[in-house]
Amino acid sequence: MADDVFADTDSWGFETRAIHAGQPHDPVSGAVVVPISPATTFAQEEVGVHRGYEYSRTGNPTRTSLEVCLASLEGGAHGLAFASGMAAEDTLLRTLTPGDHIILGNDAYGGTFRLISAVVAPMGVKWTAVDLTDPDALAAAVTPATRLIWAETPTNPLLTIIDIAAVAETAHASGVRLVVDNTFATPYLQQPLSLGADVVVHSTTKYCGGHSDVVGGFLALDDDELAARLAYLQNAVGAVGSPFDNFLTLRGLKTLPVRMDRHCRNAAAVADLLTGHSKVSGVLYPGLEDHRGHDVAERQMSGFGGMVSFRLAGGREAAMRLASSTKVFTLAESLGAVESLIEHPGAMTHASAAGSPLEVPDDLIRLSVGIESNGDIIGDLSDALDRL
Ligand code: PLP
Repeated sequence: MADDVFADTDSWGFETRAIHAGQPHDPVSGAVVVPISPATTFAQEEVGVHRGYEYSRTGNPTRTSLEVCLASLEGGAHGLAFASGMAAEDTLLRTLTPGDHIILGNDAYGGTFRLISAVVAPMGVKWTAVDLTDPDALAAAVTPATRLIWAETPTNPLLTIIDIAAVAETAHASGVRLVVDNTFATPYLQQPLSLGADVVVHSTTKYCGGHSDVVGGFLALDDDELAARLAYLQNAVGAVGSPFDNFLTLRGLKTLPVRMDRHCRNAAAVADLLTGHSKVSGVLYPGLEDHRGHDVAERQMSGFGGMVSFRLAGGREAAMRLASSTKVFTLAESLGAVESLIEHPGAMTHASAAGSPLEVPDDLIRLSVGIESNGDIIGDLSDALDRL
């Protein structure tokens, strides 16, 4: 990524950097919005003499703006944007070699589990799923071959909170890198690098993009050597998004702080509605004081996020019925956008984890609480629960 566009924005506040980092006014027209640069190739004055760009898979000006902006928001020296969260994860996992070992949290996005267990493992990389909230279990799982500990926090879909600083300490004591998937929290609520993580992973498809209109992924990190290897792999493997994709994600980031404030407020109200409701047997929201990870969340996050999961007293059948009986909440996969979504993880996003240590309960519902009017969100859910 070109360095010059980030030159004097690092002292600015989060909200200012979300709008301006990596996004200088266009030098030709003065346009205040970064142009979508569709060019696949860039003129060279002499062989090898150019303005930082040669070929668009290797580097693209719109992608550079996104990479600089989101790296800045994560507090990382380096950022790399990809065509999807899975593409970002895959590229990072390609730094491993046969015989290496990964420790994966036992509550994680089903696609991450599928990538590690069904794609990377057959190439000779070993993995163990561990409860990352249990320090003894984590310490016992580390082997001389362990290279990565892969954590999500809050996790998808159980909203478990992992103590990033504590896991980083265990990882670093054994020379292991800690990867934190920050998709649920976003850099607005939590900055894993500042807590000791080595690499931050994002599905920017979610809150970063924020409007259910672009798929993307991201890696943020400080380590120069690893960043150079990842940039090499980004180009060599080529899992990059289009300039239009990068533009949409960049546009989404501009409103991340205001959207997250509203997501947090609406989700807290939903968690209140569900707590103690006769049709609900348990609410998973880190903002609730009786949530197992509440204290850690309060320490490492500046808000509790927009995701709420809960279990139905009526079991799987009630969960299935509820999922298809809301109006403001749309029954759909994905999360993190302006509209409220409802889903049944066991049958949808986490179906690939069935029968594994990452299997989720079948009475579980996951909500991505949007930024619609609070009364409409609460009314819709309350009516649907009453109809069960
Ligand atoms: N990480 C988490 C926590 C996710 O929820 C997802 C997708 O739902 C991914 C990674 C994968 O991202 P993508 O769908 O952009 O490939």
